[in-house]
Amino acid sequence: MTDCVTGCGRPTRDTLLLCDSCIWQLEADLGSVPQLVYQLNLTITRQSRLGNRNGSRATTRGLPYDVRASDSLNSLRWVLLGGVRVLAKDDRAFYPVSDKILAMAAWLRSRTDLIAVHEAAGDLWLEITDVIHRGRQAVDAPRQRVYAGPCWAKHPQTGLECLEHLYARPGATHVACRACGTIHDVEKRKEAMRDSLHGMLLTVGEIARLAGYFDGAPQERTRKLLVAWVARGKLVPVAHDRSNRALFPFGETLAMVLTTHQPAA
Ligand SMILES: [Zn+2]
Ligand SMILES: [Zn+2]
Repeated sequence: MTDCVTGCGRPTRDTLLLCDSCIWQLEADLGSVPQLVYQLNLTITRQSRLGNRNGSRATTRGLPYDVRASDSLNSLRWVLLGGVRVLAKDDRAFYPVSDKILAMAAWLRSRTDLIAVHEAAGDLWLEITDVIHRGRQAVDAPRQRVYAGPCWAKHPQTGLECLEHLYARPGATHVACRACGTIHDVEKRKEAMRDSLHGMLLTVGEIARLAGYFDGAPQERTRKLLVAWVARGKLVPVAHDRSNRALFPFGETLAMVLTTHQPAA
């Protein structure tokens, strides 16, 4: 019996390098990859849809857009591919049928017993669980923290704009850029983002989400309210997107929502 190579402090069975808990966590994390990839793709699609609409407008720069979701997918692909390559040296006959993320995750998940005895078990375990956890943060972070848009501060020497995304603690009045240290006023940043969204055409779901984000309106209640208004003809779509979903002007619709929610607040 030896200690688990992940440093978790638990003993391992037989000749295994990983303990049962760490093997179980690796299996659970790899099993969660399909759901994670779905959420990351959803985040990316939603963001690019928001960013592309009325793309000619100069004010679309302040949109709630975050590149971390697509970065996470790339990292996930490379880490899983690395894991497959390490294991397939011992197991070439069972090379996965595809280099797609889901196929590689399923392939690795069915081989955690091989990972647990592999000399690189510690590295594989750490890299795989870490990249999956970071992927979850790329999906969850905007909800735990208040997204405040890109930094855009100009570097004093190079004149280049800082591309870091700002996330403020809930309730904080200011946020410091993690990359350049510039301090931003959270409310001013949110106002700028709200202004840049004003004339955009968005779906009911997007408006409900953003109404919650900007004004704290209850998201699900707002969505139901908007759906009811559409059914009653109080709210009329001004266009449809490529999936034939009805689109409404964000600024005007938000104003209607806030007038309605106000007495309850
Ligand atoms: Zn362990
Ligand atoms: Zn910055």
